[in-house]
Amino acid sequence: MTRVCLLTLVALAACATSPSDSIAAPPRLLVVSVTKGFRHDSIPTAEKLAERLAAQSGAFTVDYARTDEELAAKLGPGGRDSYAGVYFAQTSGDLPIPDPQGFVDWIAAGHAFVGTHSASDTFPGFAPYLDMLGGHFLRHGEQTKVSLLVRDASHPVSKAVPQPLEVFDEIYQFERYDPSRVHLLLYVAKDPETGAAGEFPLAWTREHGKGRVFYTALGHRDDVLTSEWYGAHLLAGMKWALGK
Ligand SMILES: [Zn+2]
Repeated sequence: MTRVCLLTLVALAACATSPSDSIAAPPRLLVVSVTKGFRHDSIPTAEKLAERLAAQSGAFTVDYARTDEELAAKLGPGGRDSYAGVYFAQTSGDLPIPDPQGFVDWIAAGHAFVGTHSASDTFPGFAPYLDMLGGHFLRHGEQTKVSLLVRDASHPVSKAVPQPLEVFDEIYQFERYDPSRVHLLLYVAKDPETGAAGEFPLAWTREHGKGRVFYTALGHRDDVLTSEWYGAHLLAGMKWALGK
């Protein structure tokens, strides 16, 4: 009997240090801040915010791709498989991912995509990326104050956003946006440039194959990124995309 127990203990000890432990480890999110178009001053703030949200929630850990070389190694074939998903933090232009189509396919295979602000001004000529994201940056006017409205108050990502909420930021407008392809969460009801009535989307989720996509257009300004509601909004979006 004693011997059986000892063997059981040995087996349990072996289990405790086996590779199966890695299944329980928090998912890794790769924070990408490479830019090939406009480079936002708010990038370091977005990077620090991601790190703070990871530490505060314990829901995921972050790693960074800040250079072309890091991006190619970490988000190219082989490299990306050690991540549960990716966060495009104010990226822009045609990023040097060796196989952009392979990257989009990787999202569709069941990985998380989170993008803020100019993530929609990234891969501007590559339709599979824009279709995965759900919209393409068209233009913005002067920074302005808008009343941010919640479309689906039951969704965790919009639950994090108090109502009413006025935000002063650079407000994007989109092309290649089709409301039937996204789950709209935040919008404004007035054209940020002309004041004309309408529905102007600012944050949404969508499912892309087996992958989950969260995009918020807000976050040009440091004081928006560091506001309490934005942190809660982004954290909820990251957790939703990671399936948490
Ligand atoms: Zn901007």
